[in-house]
Amino acid sequence: MTHVVIIGGGFGGLAAAHELRTSHPEIEVTLVDRRDHFFMGFAKLWDLSGWRPLAEGTRSLHALTGRGVRFVQAEVTAIDPDTRTVTAGGEAIAADAILVALGGVHAPGHVALLQADGAHDVYDAAALPAIHAELDAITEGRVLVSILGGPFQCPPAPFEVALIVDEVLRGRGVRDSVSVAISTPQPITLPVAGVDASRYVAARLGDHEVELLSERKVTAVDGAARTVTFDNGETADYSILLGVPALAAPPVLVDAGLTGPSGFVEPDRTTLRTSFPGIYAVGDCTHVPNAIGALPKAGIFAAAEGVVAARNIVAELAGGEEARFDGYGYCFLELPGQKVAFVEGDFFAEPKPDVTLVEADSEQFVRKQAYELERLELWLG
Ligand SMILES: Cc1cc2nc3c(=O)[nH]c(=O)nc-3n(C[C@H](O)[C@H](O)[C@H](O)COP(=O)(O)OP(=O)(O)OC[C@H]3O[C@@H](n4cnc5c(N)ncnc54)[C@H](O)[C@@H]3O)c2cc1C
Repeated sequence: MTHVVIIGGGFGGLAAAHELRTSHPEIEVTLVDRRDHFFMGFAKLWDLSGWRPLAEGTRSLHALTGRGVRFVQAEVTAIDPDTRTVTAGGEAIAADAILVALGGVHAPGHVALLQADGAHDVYDAAALPAIHAELDAITEGRVLVSILGGPFQCPPAPFEVALIVDEVLRGRGVRDSVSVAISTPQPITLPVAGVDASRYVAARLGDHEVELLSERKVTAVDGAARTVTFDNGETADYSILLGVPALAAPPVLVDAGLTGPSGFVEPDRTTLRTSFPGIYAVGDCTHVPNAIGALPKAGIFAAAEGVVAARNIVAELAGGEEARFDGYGYCFLELPGQKVAFVEGDFFAEPKPDVTLVEADSEQFVRKQAYELERLELWLG
């Protein structure tokens, strides 16, 4: 029987598993992940805001077993792209095709910076309880959200974090004595979405008195003095530092020789095929070039790519029409008061992405909730 091995049970891997299982149930599918559960990145921010605990948006990957996919909970320790063999939990798993969907790791240098007192990796779900405790206790000082470098996941999310912090502090009645700022190495807030969307985000920060410190890259964090130093020599005080680390490819992909000059896997951007026969790659572990650099690292793109890769795996193994990823997608930007704006369009357009900003309203918040529920039900319900 034809055997497809998917490594990584996040957006890309789960979308691909669903596509393979429903379109070609005769193909044997194994999915390997070190974790036994899945939740969407934005569910962490719903937890941070106090709107919904993370557990409510979490589903077990063991649900795959009842849906015709063999689930192996294990660490992938080696990949041999020539023989198409994955080593996980000591087992060598041979495949006719492998889909690499391992996501990224938080850049070790940034994780090290965030070991300082009062500093947290705000993208790490495990840090949420400590962040809650500090936001619940602070009465004066400054909360600084810092984008530490790129590429990082979900370009709007750090700005959402700053606005959530504002909302939480207002709710506690301490906002007058606690300032909120966000620093970014970028000249504008959302370069991937263009000048108009960036102005829109900057204006929303202004509405909520969140100070925007652009073109500032954090070079050092002093936990004892509670200060950060930027690359322009300035320093800024913090009481709580919420850092957003850059993403790097998982070391196992580097060791397997699957990464390119970008540091990530570089598949063909329309077919998601790598230069190794039968090896495909999608999502955050890839570099997908476009006119202004690369596609944002976002679950919506990872999932769309996963479906295309699954179809192309089928076309290669069983025949049929090839699928093409067209770079179309959207990014949510959630604002206080349960309103969601989004930027939508063709991220492959030349000479720059052809994307439109849809301003925030409550209906889009409903659309975002539905996006999550539908996928969780489809993939793991
Ligand atoms: C706070 C926050 C908010 C976000 N908001 C949005 C949003 O609104 N919209 C959006 O589109 N995106 C959003 N994202 C980004 C989104 O979560 C990621 O882009 C998405 O998860 C990438 O999907 P993926 O399948 O490539 O990787 P992942 O979802 O990260 O999945 C990779 C999987 O591989 C597993 N894995 C990795 N290495 C190994 C190994 N060696 N062995 C075994 N298993 C391994 C991991 O356990 C993981 O389950 C957000 C992210 C964050 C942090």
